[in-house]
Amino acid sequence: MKNFLQYELWKNCNNRCKFCYNLGQKNYSDIKNRLRTIIEDIKNIDYKKFSDFGITGGEFFDGQLDELNLKSDFYILINEICKKIKEKKIIRFLVNTSFIYKSRDDIIFFIETLKRNKCLTETLFCTSFDTIHRFNESSLKTWKDNMKFLYKKYKIRIHTEIIITNDFCKKILNDEFNIIDFQNKYHTFVDFIQPAVPYGLNKTKKEFEKTVKNFFPERKIFLSTIKKLQNMGYDLTRFLSIDDHADETHCVLNGKIKNVKNRTILEKYISPYRKPNQVGYIDSDKFMREDVELFLLDV
Ligand code: SF4
Repeated sequence: MKNFLQYELWKNCNNRCKFCYNLGQKNYSDIKNRLRTIIEDIKNIDYKKFSDFGITGGEFFDGQLDELNLKSDFYILINEICKKIKEKKIIRFLVNTSFIYKSRDDIIFFIETLKRNKCLTETLFCTSFDTIHRFNESSLKTWKDNMKFLYKKYKIRIHTEIIITNDFCKKILNDEFNIIDFQNKYHTFVDFIQPAVPYGLNKTKKEFEKTVKNFFPERKIFLSTIKKLQNMGYDLTRFLSIDDHADETHCVLNGKIKNVKNRTILEKYISPYRKPNQVGYIDSDKFMREDVELFLLDV
């Protein structure tokens, strides 16, 4: 089995999604030093255990590299990753990016660097799409344009994560959103994630829902949604990985560097740093993934 190790480089991002995991959290005080530590870490990772390696933010390609004055260190890191790809120690390189940026200069420079190093085919770009609370009209257009342009120009591989909001479920039920059409249109494949209160806000989901409406799904609506998707022939096992997709994340939680092991047997349904009243259904503390498992057993 491939294990996926992810490093969070920084939290800076210009998009301000209302549900961003980074909301309310402190950033690192010394990003330059952190990058250098990661560059050293890369050399010593146990690649027998981790064959997938990922970087996440924040955002990297919306002016952050210039703004934070980190471009040379960032590319030293990317070159080290490319070396490990060429040595076949890293099999997949996963890069989180919003694709919401007006200027494509930074992402094109990044893609060209990977291409020059012959590492583009091992790279998977991981983006997000949501039917509510992520985009305004202009940012949605930017996202769509970038998805189409970058695929057409470079044939990059793109994975898209969608939060299972109540709004998303209703749009599936009302035939306003079709996952297969979406995948075909944007040359991507979709995975899902359960809604959660941003880590730094210390609120319950009921408190959070007062300002971010239609975010947490009602249990009945979610169950109808998976039933409909199954009737349409959709592979529901895609709903089994709805918490963090990385097996281990080296990140900063409220200003402190942490290595979070996301999937342990005891915490099968929820990341260790979440509470049941901060994730999943608005009207139940049952685990969404457990419901999917029971549903799959039933049919
Ligand atoms: S694009 Fe991602 S990192 Fe940026 S604000 Fe939105 S959720 Fe947060």
